Amino acid sequence: MNQKSELEKYTEYGLSGSPQIKADEKRYWLGEFRERVIFALTYEQINRKEAVKIVEEKCKDHSVKKIIIEQDVQDVIAEKFMDVANKYQKDYKMIDTQNKKGEIALVLVSNEAVDEKEIVMDEIPMLPEAFYHSKNKKLCKKHMEILQEKAHFFIDEFEEITLLDKMMGIKCGVCEHMKES
Ligand SMILES: [Zn+2]
Repeated sequence: MNQKSELEKYTEYGLSGSPQIKADEKRYWLGEFRERVIFALTYEQINRKEAVKIVEEKCKDHSVKKIIIEQDVQDVIAEKFMDVANKYQKDYKMIDTQNKKGEIALVLVSNEAVDEKEIVMDEIPMLPEAFYHSKNKKLCKKHMEILQEKAHFFIDEFEEITLLDKMMGIKCGVCEHMKES
């Protein structure tokens, strides 16, 4: 965006009294303009064990440049996202928005406008419990399909059993777990 258009915008806002709206918007999105936000987690979502994995997947998108976390997020949780930022070479920042009623705990941000439609997921996809207890990382076709459908963010954590695996006696970790329980 060139300087002139920024200036024009500024002038426009000045006339219509919008700076306050922009200020509120930025406070809500942890100091960022909504148009730059690619993904966000609410306070409720950030504590879920799936959240880190989902953010990690989102960070594979090169337009994500920064991870910003609200200061009120517990340190143990925030540290996990700091690790993700390091791993994917994103900037990491904590911010105190002074917005105690805020909903948003974390944002992934681009350097430019992306106008992402769905920034916040209604619900975080959950890895079905049986997959957490999987005996190994190899799954039968059926369980790969279930994973794809219910929690595709986790798909790269597992592999479908190959013919060679079968010959070597490797069985689906989830099927094996279910037999035991
Ligand atoms: Zn299976």
